[in-house]
Amino acid sequence: MLSQFETLPDALRSRGVRRRQFLKFCSAMVATLALPDRYFGQVVAALEARKRPVLVWLEFQDCAGNTESMLRSGHPTVAETVLELLSWEYHETIMAGAGKQAEAVLDRMVKEHRGEYLAVVEGSIPMGDGGVYCTIGGRTALDIARGVCGAAKATIAVGACAWDGGLVAARPNPTGAVGLEEAVPSVPVVNLGGCPHNPANTAAVLVHYLTFGEMPALDQYNRPLFAYGKLIHDQCERRAHFDAGRFVQDWGDEGHRKGWCLYKMGCKGPEATFNCPSVRWNDGTSWPVKAGHGCLGCASHRFWDTRSPFYERLPHVAGFGVDVPATSIGMGLAGVVTAATVAHAVGSAVRAKVRPEEPEPPSGEGAGQGPAGA
Ligand code: SF4
Ligand code: SF4
Repeated sequence: MLSQFETLPDALRSRGVRRRQFLKFCSAMVATLALPDRYFGQVVAALEARKRPVLVWLEFQDCAGNTESMLRSGHPTVAETVLELLSWEYHETIMAGAGKQAEAVLDRMVKEHRGEYLAVVEGSIPMGDGGVYCTIGGRTALDIARGVCGAAKATIAVGACAWDGGLVAARPNPTGAVGLEEAVPSVPVVNLGGCPHNPANTAAVLVHYLTFGEMPALDQYNRPLFAYGKLIHDQCERRAHFDAGRFVQDWGDEGHRKGWCLYKMGCKGPEATFNCPSVRWNDGTSWPVKAGHGCLGCASHRFWDTRSPFYERLPHVAGFGVDVPATSIGMGLAGVVTAATVAHAVGSAVRAKVRPEEPEPPSGEGAGQGPAGA
């Protein structure tokens, strides 16, 4: 796994990636970061000139879905470019070495590159019973995270589990699982929530770091604003149907076949933020709502608890007011809202009320149960 190439152009050339494809990747990164076009040249120059930093990728309590997401980009040049941005020196799932040999690599990276390498963490950290539920080479996940992330130049937590414990920490959370920043509060972390993370966003964070020498602006959950700053509902191609009161009532019904709004099928888009509708998956091909399934709010805090039941509608949606129950939304709206000016006013009110940040999800027992019976 130790890389023989010091710079990105060398590494890409060795894989047959043409400069034109590299420039296309840079252009996509500038767009993902929501930077003005004039930064394109700066991004290209920085990525071409810089030595590739060492990356150490840790996996703890997880399904390896974030690794899969990073490795399975549909378009080979994007995947290659992301992988070649950094010198990946330790990653249990994909490295050739195993056992003591692999652990020796990790020890050496921490000693020889102290304060220089980037650490990426995937998976939650069990705090229960002394951390016995996740040990690697005889060390607990907590001990490894403290040692490796504590000596890193910067640390990124990818996926829901590394951010807030994810599915592993969902009630009743038998292992006492938590996310990285709760387990090791002394380490500054950039959280890339989602289940899984979107590799385009992770690549954009890395590109920002390599170009400007710092991480991008973050929100209250230490998530990059460029990716988590906008409501999904405000970016959704089905939004016109929501505003007009055209809702899917059942899977496979006429509205579903016509691409109407999935709010009544449990879509959490009105309360969840993420750039999923614009970055999409499989190199921008599509995203779940476009494909016909409501958003689960996978990039929301503790979404397994706070956004479930996944197939029950949100009880109240900003813009319609708390006095309008969910069951009423859409009933007759298509007939009532006939004037375009009124429709526009409804849409504007929704947007004005919900921006710019994701509402705090409900917490405590019963969180996320509200929609039942609404
Ligand atoms: S409720 Fe869901 S499907 Fe409907 S417009 Fe909002 S995000 Fe799109
Ligand atoms: S549609 Fe929602 S739940 Fe599905 S991947 Fe996108 S953000 Fe996550």
